[in-house]
Amino acid sequence: MFRKCLIEAMSNNTARRLRLILYLDELTPGNVIRPDNRRKLYVWYISFVEFKLHLRNEALWLPVAAIRSTILSTVVGGLSSASRALFKAMLEERPSVLLTGALVNVPDPTLLQAELKVYLGDEPAVKGIWSVKGFAGIKPCLFCSNIVKKTSELRRLHPWLKTIVEENKDLFQPNRNEDLWNAQAHLAAQSALLTKTALDTLEKACGQNFCPQGVLADRDLRNYAKPLDSQFDSMHIYWSNGIVDLEVDLMLQSLKKEPGLNSQHLETYVNSWSSASKTSLWLKDFQFKGMASQLMQLFPVLSYFLDKFLSTDASLTHELASFRALTRVVQLLKRIKDTAEVSLQHTTELAKLQREHLSLFKRAYDAETHVKPKHHFSLHLPEQINRCSCLFDCFVTERKHRLIKAEIQHYSSCATQFERDFIIRVNEIQLSETKDHAQPCLIAPKLCPLGFHVARRARLKYVSVAEGEVVFAHGMAMVVRACAEVDAVIELLVETYTFVQFDANPLSRVWRKSSIARLVPPECQLHFHLMLFFLYFLFLSLMMFFCSMFKQSRTSCRSLAAGHSWATIS
Ligand SMILES: [Zn+2]
Repeated sequence: MFRKCLIEAMSNNTARRLRLILYLDELTPGNVIRPDNRRKLYVWYISFVEFKLHLRNEALWLPVAAIRSTILSTVVGGLSSASRALFKAMLEERPSVLLTGALVNVPDPTLLQAELKVYLGDEPAVKGIWSVKGFAGIKPCLFCSNIVKKTSELRRLHPWLKTIVEENKDLFQPNRNEDLWNAQAHLAAQSALLTKTALDTLEKACGQNFCPQGVLADRDLRNYAKPLDSQFDSMHIYWSNGIVDLEVDLMLQSLKKEPGLNSQHLETYVNSWSSASKTSLWLKDFQFKGMASQLMQLFPVLSYFLDKFLSTDASLTHELASFRALTRVVQLLKRIKDTAEVSLQHTTELAKLQREHLSLFKRAYDAETHVKPKHHFSLHLPEQINRCSCLFDCFVTERKHRLIKAEIQHYSSCATQFERDFIIRVNEIQLSETKDHAQPCLIAPKLCPLGFHVARRARLKYVSVAEGEVVFAHGMAMVVRACAEVDAVIELLVETYTFVQFDANPLSRVWRKSSIARLVPPECQLHFHLMLFFLYFLFLSLMMFFCSMFKQSRTSCRSLAAGHSWATIS
């Protein structure tokens, strides 16, 4: 699969110079209840911008380096020093894809050249690579020279200085790469002259640490590693302890004070929409405690609930206006993520909606208390999307961590050559899984009484699909009820829904259930969790119904399928 995507990317790129994405994250093996801190480690993955929408597939992210957190804590210069060593190794490699290029057989020998173009990660990872102060510092933003934190007295010194609560992006003064390099050089020059306390103060004013072992201090790397090629990740900005978490929490606290509304009402309503998981586990007593994927299920339902039942509530006017504005931002981000070539029109609209939202949020809630650095970081997303005409986020790499976490259990935290052996091993597994990905198959299949295999999940050509998820094809929405392998072909049993109308809520559509179908999916676009459905009929008992329908539909399906290159079989 990697080869196929590489051929496609290289054939579409006349310059034959692809753009490398470097993703960095810290993983904690074990689980939430029992984290295995001894085996915590940082992993660097790479992929290519040109893979575009295929980047949602974990198989296209290659782990290239790892270091245990315990070892990193003894390295002078920390994460920036380790990243510098990685960049150096990529340049010193012979042949180097960053310098001379390397021959790859795709299938004819072809010269592959690449440039480091995107550094993706959560805020601590981006901060660590460049050894900057990050959101805790007086200058919390890598991209702006005049943005200071909310509590800084600096903001009173000059009107040019703005805090993170400012929503007008025209007032931001952009940093240049040279500014960041020059600041590091200035710190180096002053380090021999200043006391430690004075140097600390200067570091805070510069927004970065004096780190002679780090990337910013290495002049030879300046042509290859540029700090402003970093990208904040929209998943962490919005969904993982992010802007949506915060606003959902604030809205739930407001609802708690609503006369006549108790937590049971809300939980019953939300649960009536949820078919894939037990909402009651993460929404209780007006409190949400869940992960990003669960928040993505809750958010559209809550948004719809507010529109339908509380839209005329005068006591919540500002809160509802802010929530609606956030809903519009989320809806557009979802649309942008599904677009292979994002246009300037998309990102201009996104910038407008984000500004509107932050303005309404500040009217609804106390800005000094509730506006967070992630609100400011989010305003940089449009320009970051413009750079590659594509939105990258960390959902796929978070899924990819499962491979690392599963494998690391077999390694002693004290093993010598841990990092080298580990990264070789995960690449071997990756290679084998990449081959497997080429062939659609059922995951954990079971033999059913009719003599064929069924499963709750299946791996298709580029994506996996599971019971309860929604597939869009031929203008229809289809809820997957089961996966099967019949005559060596992977099929899905789906409930089909035809589109009826748009709804006032931007995340909602009205669909009517039409039939049960068997689906042979060569390719399909999958949307998870972000769409509401008006399900006019109750769900039927899955496996019993599945077995009986299969028997009944086998004879009538072929003629109906004849008109479709994409077989939807009623
Ligand atoms: Zn900024």
